[in-house]
Amino acid sequence: MNLTQYLDAPTLERWDKLIGQSQRIAILGHAGPDGDAMGSILALTHYLRKMGKKAVPIVPNPCPDFLRWLPGIQSVISAINNPRHAMEILHNCELVVCLDFSGYDRLEDIGDRVSQLHKPVIVIDHHLAPQIDADILISNPAASATCEILSCLLHQADPSALLDNNIATCLYCGIMTDTGAFAYNSNRAELYHITALLLESGIDKDQIYRNVYYNYSEQRMRLVGYLLNEKMTYLSDIHTAIYTLTVEEMKRYHFVRGDAEGIVNMPLQIKGTKLSISMREDTEKPIVRISLRSIGDFPCNKMAEEFFNGGGHKNASGGTLPKPIEEAYKTALKAIEAYRDQLI
Ligand code: 5GP
Ligand code: MN
Repeated sequence: MNLTQYLDAPTLERWDKLIGQSQRIAILGHAGPDGDAMGSILALTHYLRKMGKKAVPIVPNPCPDFLRWLPGIQSVISAINNPRHAMEILHNCELVVCLDFSGYDRLEDIGDRVSQLHKPVIVIDHHLAPQIDADILISNPAASATCEILSCLLHQADPSALLDNNIATCLYCGIMTDTGAFAYNSNRAELYHITALLLESGIDKDQIYRNVYYNYSEQRMRLVGYLLNEKMTYLSDIHTAIYTLTVEEMKRYHFVRGDAEGIVNMPLQIKGTKLSISMREDTEKPIVRISLRSIGDFPCNKMAEEFFNGGGHKNASGGTLPKPIEEAYKTALKAIEAYRDQLI
């Protein structure tokens, strides 16, 4: 297995040239950043700073609490908290790197402004159908995570890159979270070759697992119990689970950013489940955030595109609806009805 041939020679040459000629580099992750978004922007930040570059990681809104242990986390700028600083960095940079997304809509409030910067852009992503007109587009929907692609790319650009403990920790975190700790999207042998290279840096992967998955509050555990016991509806004839979560309920359970993570996967543990839908009121805007998860062939991304202004992967996608949660719930019921044939 040859991991050193990830990019073809002309693309690697363009990568070297664009990185080489840029000193100030803005590194963007998507809104509602997850482990793969945070892991990839921080890994690339560490890598570029070691090269002497002025690299600044930016996300539209803050990362969840369960990722706050990542090395370099204090250098990440959240545009919602620091709008002036974020825009200043973006206006003054010489290169923009977009990681783990490939449509400016995933940047939410700053998407329009970023799309009008007219700077050279590199996109590295594993979502379907990239939309950004990038100078270098490295898109691989077969990859388990953007961090997997970035691991291969950095290893190719500099064979010693993955030996850096901080870089390897961030990359491993992204691969682990986007595969549910190697439970899905994780059948390809290449994934384990590149992961083995990350482990050679001496990272403590068991500690990374505990940092992410064993780090919740008591209240979050009780929220999970409440949602599954009192809020989840299970439509057994169509193998679909659905629940809603309101801001009032979040307050009751002392909700912190990231507490909803992973809950939508839990109903998939019910034998035969094909689809799980989470509908959650946003804490800042009058919108509902929808998460979809499926097992097998059910295309969550199609449903998200058609009914929830969103998209994503076949088995994991999301979107938003700008309406009250009761109305959003009715939309979800319509969506389920429209896809009934594929759920029965
Ligand atoms: P989550 O349910 O964890 O928020 O998102 C799961 C996946 O759905 C993400 O990795 C992303 O691919 C996709 N996704 C979530 N929200 C949106 C959205 O608003 N628009 C699009 N295009 N994709 C989304
Ligand atoms: Mn990802």
